[in-house]
Amino acid sequence: MTVGCVAGDEESYSVFADLFDPVIEKRHSGYKKTDMHKTDLDPTNLIGGDDLDEKYVLSVRVRTGRSIRGLCLPPYCSRAERRKVEKIVVNALSSLDGDFAGKYYPLGKMTDKEQEELINDHFLFDKPVSPLLTSAGMARDWPDARGIWHNEKKNFLVWINEEDHTRVISMQKGGNMKEVFTRFCNGLNKVESAIKAKGHSFMWNQHLGFVLTCPSNLGTGLRGGVHVKLPLLSKDSRFDDILQELRLQKRGTGGVDTASTDGTFDISNSDRLGSSEVDQVQKVVDGVKLLVSMEKKLEKGESINETLPGKIKGNFINFRKENQIWFLRSCIQIQILCSWFLLQRINRYLIKKRKFFLS
Ligand code: ADP
Ligand code: MG
Repeated sequence: MTVGCVAGDEESYSVFADLFDPVIEKRHSGYKKTDMHKTDLDPTNLIGGDDLDEKYVLSVRVRTGRSIRGLCLPPYCSRAERRKVEKIVVNALSSLDGDFAGKYYPLGKMTDKEQEELINDHFLFDKPVSPLLTSAGMARDWPDARGIWHNEKKNFLVWINEEDHTRVISMQKGGNMKEVFTRFCNGLNKVESAIKAKGHSFMWNQHLGFVLTCPSNLGTGLRGGVHVKLPLLSKDSRFDDILQELRLQKRGTGGVDTASTDGTFDISNSDRLGSSEVDQVQKVVDGVKLLVSMEKKLEKGESINETLPGKIKGNFINFRKENQIWFLRSCIQIQILCSWFLLQRINRYLIKKRKFFLS
C-alpha cells in the first residue's frame, strides 16, 4: 500500500522524522514516537490456520522484507550498492540446504517469456509499472541486479532489489496457513542467519521494527494473505467496513493496484507495526474463517446480520433498534390520530341526534 513517501536509507526515518512520524502515526493506527514494536516468529503460537476451507481459499502467501544495514534503500542506492546487495544475499542463500536449498535467477538473464510465466504464476514481482516504483526512482537501471531466488518446490522464494533489498516469501496452493507460516518462520531464520554469518546485519530498531523502504511496511514487514473466493459477500455494501473492522485489506489477485474481476480477492493483514508476526497472521486466519462462513450463509440465502464483526454488528443492532422504536412510535401516533377522528365523528353524530330530538 503506498502512503506517498518512501525512505532512501535507514537514517531517513530519523533525519526526516517531521515528515515520516505523522505518516507512520496515520498509517499504523496512531502509533506514537514513544511506542515500541514486538516480534514473535514462533509458528507454534499460531492458533489453528491449517483448516481454511479450500473450496474458497485457493492459495496462501506470507512475505516480509529485510534491508541490509549500511547500504542505501532502492529509491536512492547507487548501481554499485544495488549490485552489492545482490552479491551479499545470493552468496548467503547459496549456503541453505535441505528443503531450503535453491537457485538464483537474475532478471537480466531471463527471457521475456520466462519472466511473464513467473509473474502470471504469482511467483515474481511485476515489471516496474507502478507509480510507487517509477516515481520513487526504484526502476532505475532495471533489470540490473534484480532477480528471484527460489527453492526446488517454489514454495520459498526471495526477491532481490525490487521495492526492498530483499523480500522473503513462503507460499503454496490450498488453505494451509499454518504450514506456510511455519515454513516462513523457519526459512526466514535461516536466511537471516546466513546473511549474518557473512558479517552483515539488518536495519532494525525497537521503535520501528524492521526498517523497509515504504513506511507502510515498517514493523514486521509482514503481509500474510490468501486468495479467496467471496463473490456474494464482496457485493454486500458493508464489505469494506467488515474488512476494516477485522483489520484486513483487500487487493485484486494480480497484486497491489489491481482490482478483483471475478469476486476472488487477495485478503491480508493491514497492520504491521506494534503487533507481532503471530498476532498479524492470527488476524488473517480468524478473519478469513469469518468471511468464508458469511459467504456460505449468503449462498444459502441466509442473513449475515448476526455474524457481523464487532462495531458493525453494534451499529447494525442500534440501527435496527432505532428503526423499531421509530416504527412503534409511528404506529402509536397513527392510532391516536385515528381515535381522535373517530371521537370527532361520534361527537358530531351525537350533536346531530340531540338537535333532532330537541327540535
Ligand atoms: P507484495 O505485498 O508482496 O508486494 P503484491 O500485491 O505486489 O504483493 O503481489 C505480488 C505477487 O504475489 C502478485 O503476483 C500476487 O498475485 C501474488 N500473491 C499475493 N498474495 C498471494 C496469495 N495469497 N496467493 C498467491 N499469490 C499471491
Ligand atoms: Mg509489491
